[in-house]
Amino acid sequence: QSALRTPLIVGNWKMNLNHREAAQFMQQLAWILRDGRFDPSACEIAILPPFTSIHSVQVLVQADKLSICYGAQTVSVTSQGAFTGDVSADMLSALGCTYVLVGHSERRRYHSDDDANLVDQVRATLAAGMQPILCVGEGYEERREGIELDYAVGQVDDITRDLSEEDARKLIIAYEPVWAIGTGLVATPQSAQDAAHAIRTHLERTYSADLAAQARILYGGSVTSANALTLLTQARDMDGFLIGGASLEAEEFSAIIQQI
Ligand code: PGA
Repeated sequence: QSALRTPLIVGNWKMNLNHREAAQFMQQLAWILRDGRFDPSACEIAILPPFTSIHSVQVLVQADKLSICYGAQTVSVTSQGAFTGDVSADMLSALGCTYVLVGHSERRRYHSDDDANLVDQVRATLAAGMQPILCVGEGYEERREGIELDYAVGQVDDITRDLSEEDARKLIIAYEPVWAIGTGLVATPQSAQDAAHAIRTHLERTYSADLAAQARILYGGSVTSANALTLLTQARDMDGFLIGGASLEAEEFSAIIQQI
């Protein structure tokens, strides 16, 4: 991994862990990480709880002075007003959120989050002083046709073509092949590397070598403590993980973190 980029391990809880379970998880995680096998300067940890559990995570992080960041799984593109059911970027930053996940394949699929909306989510996140984690990745069809790299890079371009270099510096990209999400089918280290490399090359062409060298690119899709180390050591352009299922148990999540 590059000395320029601190590895980032993100737990995406999706619609799991209510506020009580979230507090329990955080206590367990703090307990495990405190036993000395974890060096907080070696990697950054972030948790993305459902909205209703963010405050529980915040309370535990503050009370125990944990070096753990947290954030949300999506955000409204409007700042306030008559938008029933929405949560604004300012509300999230007021809770101490650092990150907002943008464009997860489940949001694209079940909520029709499209490119125009995703660009606005990125802008709203940045305007509130947080960092977007943009998810991209091909489905099974594109992989079968052999166009997975163009597809993932195209999804990055759909967002970056409207972003200034200054804004793009704060963007984190998560490459998550849709066929690997929650299926137990993990990408090979080589294909995770190829995608991360293609995305980094795209950032270099769109912006600058300096921005590309500093951009953090994560892999997501069936990451567990059994495959994390191989992925991380063999995919040089990858700077960490976006983890769904394996982030729901403190033991398993910390077993991944401790391999960094
Ligand atoms: P998974 O989910 O780790 O359960 O495959 C990853 C994600 O969707 O972010």
